[in-house]
Amino acid sequence: MHLERRVLVTGGAGFLGSHLCERLVSEGFYVICLDNFFTGTHKNIEHLIGHKSFEVLRHDITHPLFVEVDEIYNLACPASPVHYQRDPVQTTKTSVIGSIIVLGLAKRLRAKVFQASTSEVYGDPSVHPQTEAYWGNVNPIGPRSCYDEGKRCAETLFFDYWRQHRIPIKVARIFNTYGPRTHPNDGRVVSSFIVQALMGRDITVFGEGQQTRSFCYVDDLIEGFVRLMATEEQVTGPINLGNPSEFTIVELATMIIDIIGSKSKIVNRPLPQDDPKQRRPDISQARDVLGWEPAVPLRRGLEKTIPYFEQLIARSGPDRIG
Ligand code: NAD
Ligand code: UDP
Repeated sequence: MHLERRVLVTGGAGFLGSHLCERLVSEGFYVICLDNFFTGTHKNIEHLIGHKSFEVLRHDITHPLFVEVDEIYNLACPASPVHYQRDPVQTTKTSVIGSIIVLGLAKRLRAKVFQASTSEVYGDPSVHPQTEAYWGNVNPIGPRSCYDEGKRCAETLFFDYWRQHRIPIKVARIFNTYGPRTHPNDGRVVSSFIVQALMGRDITVFGEGQQTRSFCYVDDLIEGFVRLMATEEQVTGPINLGNPSEFTIVELATMIIDIIGSKSKIVNRPLPQDDPKQRRPDISQARDVLGWEPAVPLRRGLEKTIPYFEQLIARSGPDRIG
């Protein structure tokens, strides 16, 4: 009898989760996709529904859960500032209580468990680029804290379950990632600029646009997830996963306008509170331990992403987007 390995993906109907489910199903895993559909959509996973190795579980990860799996990827948590600030208490609960639920499950099952942590644990960093050894510069009481501190506490829980109970953990610190299925209205910079440029609207650059980010194409990131999960037990992370090429927000806007051939103009808007000035991963560890580095340059990744938004606008109509 062929024994399928069973994997739970929390947040599986979201942007990254749906790409991960797709990848795991294609590799022959049986995938349970758990989601409360706060930001995730059925549309993201519609191509998987009906597949014999895929099932969807509508569930909020802050509530107890009984499933039988060999591996768990914990991605449940809204990722964009607009979404995670809508209900900040629920955001912290999702990271903290959600991690406790997931780790308790892993403990009962002796399952490997992966945590989608974030570069936001570094806050507005005073060390550049950020290595995993940097402890971060995070405001504990600001509008981003529910996300940043929730994710920091989740890391603490993961490492205590490892030290105390020897649960095999894999903690990835993910840097800004983009690609098809990013939510068009979530305010994240790549999707916002693409939608604005496609619709000929002004491109809203916050502040002077000299703040930097490093943008990783989704397929590269998912490859990093799978490689990290496959490592032996003593590899716990935290490990940075992201693209080390750094761009200012103005450079990003200009590149998107250029690729689309848009007539949109760049306009400046106030910089949100606690907006990090610069962010770029040091991925030496990922290179050494996982033999991983991103393969898709920003321009190429944008060219692969823009058609998704073109189709979305054509299907939904401009009034329902942006
Ligand atoms: P997303 O918002 O598209 O996906 C998050 C998913 O989690 C959604 O499907 C949402 O409905 C679900 N969810 C939220 N709260 C839940 C709850 N309480 N119970 C069950 N499901 C819940 O975001 P994403 O970009 O796909 O991010 C996935 C994960 O990766 C998140 O944990 C995020 O913090 C992390 N991450 C993402 C990025 C990025 O650039 N995309 C960067 C760093 C970290
Ligand atoms: N940003 C911007 N215009 C937008 C949306 C975002 O200039 O319409 C900027 C934002 O201020 C930040 C960067 O782009 O400096 C990345 O923002 P995003 O919300 O995508 O991610 P994060 O701040 O979490 O890295």
